[in-house]
Amino acid sequence: MIRHLAVLVAATALLGATPPRFDMAAHVLPPAATPGAAAQPFVSVAQPQVALVHVRVIDGTGAPALADRTVLIDHGRIAAVQAASDPVPAGYRVIDASGDSVLPGLVGMHDHQYYIARPNLDEQGHSEPPLMVPEMAFSSPRLYLAAGVTTLRTTGSVEPYTDLNLKQQIDAGVLPGPHMDVTGPYLEGADSPFMQMHPLKDAAEARRMVDYWADVGVTSFKAYMNITRAELAAAAQAAHKRGLKITGHLCAVTYPEAVAAGIDDLEHGFFVNTQLDSGKRADVCSKSSGAETLAAMAPDSAAAKALIKLLVDHHVAVTSTLPVFEPSSPSYRPLGPKQLDVMSPAARTDYFYVRERYTGRPAAKKAAAASNWAHELGLERAFVAAGGLLLAGPDPTGGGEVIPGFGDQRELELLVEAGFTPLQAIRIGTLNGATYEGLAERIGSIAPGKDADLVLVHGDPSTHIEAIEDVVTVFKDGVGYDPDKLLASVRGRYGQY
Ligand SMILES: [Zn+2]
Repeated sequence: MIRHLAVLVAATALLGATPPRFDMAAHVLPPAATPGAAAQPFVSVAQPQVALVHVRVIDGTGAPALADRTVLIDHGRIAAVQAASDPVPAGYRVIDASGDSVLPGLVGMHDHQYYIARPNLDEQGHSEPPLMVPEMAFSSPRLYLAAGVTTLRTTGSVEPYTDLNLKQQIDAGVLPGPHMDVTGPYLEGADSPFMQMHPLKDAAEARRMVDYWADVGVTSFKAYMNITRAELAAAAQAAHKRGLKITGHLCAVTYPEAVAAGIDDLEHGFFVNTQLDSGKRADVCSKSSGAETLAAMAPDSAAAKALIKLLVDHHVAVTSTLPVFEPSSPSYRPLGPKQLDVMSPAARTDYFYVRERYTGRPAAKKAAAASNWAHELGLERAFVAAGGLLLAGPDPTGGGEVIPGFGDQRELELLVEAGFTPLQAIRIGTLNGATYEGLAERIGSIAPGKDADLVLVHGDPSTHIEAIEDVVTVFKDGVGYDPDKLLASVRGRYGQY
């Protein structure tokens, strides 16, 4: 009998009917450590019991905001959400949050820890090879935390050992920063523009790479533009065998092909799907790298409907990364003094060069970009309306105009511009990410028993989404951090280290 059962279990495993469970919470949200000497200067609320009184609660589920509440934080957890008239238990530090709102900590789903440098960039936009991607292990975690990002996925790593060690030191309280789902090194094929990525030779190597990095401790994977269908399928299979997920910024593999290969998430919304690109050859990145497909795919077209149905049927998530595309949109908003202030002088100069080139483009190019931008916003809305799980992240790369943390806030503002309500946008940036990560029982929404990963802001982002930029305190595991002190500590450093 036992033998028969064992055979049955083995057969079920072979069929893939019982996907292994991986305890993401144990890895991404380990028990909180007390902030050490390097993190302590940024702590503004250290008491284990805190009452936010007269606060507006935006719970992250998309439900209407609740006015005049008291949120009780007790040893890193949300103990209660009660009427402001209810008494606060003895021993709590009371913070009057009149006029303020509390929302769940943001779950950033395209939150790299690096900066893209362009050696000797000039005002004509020319730079010299190679394209370098310096790690920002000092400035990025602080910028994310200051903006209210309490959990992030690195979504591709150029220094995976650094990212893993960084995560460990943040978890140990040695450094300030958010909870991290560390993604493995990019799973990239041949001919990458990035010399810091390893070019995969074949499917067997893709499998070996996934196994090695999962053994070392990464908790997600990302495929990149030149990966082939066979390599992607092998990587997805190896990741799934361990209960881990794989996303991709694709080009050589189209979205329908990626669904067939078993991908879990697609980065950059619908900007990089190449299924309708002219001259697209199998397993080879097309020249337009998706721009033609997006131009051809009006949100209400049959092609769009078929693609969205395919994604929803296969539970494939889509990550919206609007800020990295924003410079080519009609809604382009240049960086303000707060953002420029955290950049290194060299990063600032490079940004000004790139910005001038964006604003000075010919009218025809601007019009084409505006049309694609409109298609993208419509497709993201249609995907959500069809029941798709849309995630949010800034992708701090591009021409240097997307800054960690600031970009996460901007992404929510652009979702509102896309036609989502502020409450929907906040849900996409919080609970949706937590749901994809398998962490929704712990984070992503405000309810008794959940982790006290919260953002307190001035004003009401449920009616004016821009209020998410006005951060008062970021609570991570119940410890309150001062965003201004975090930002002051990285003045002039983003782009340097
Ligand atoms: Zn990216």
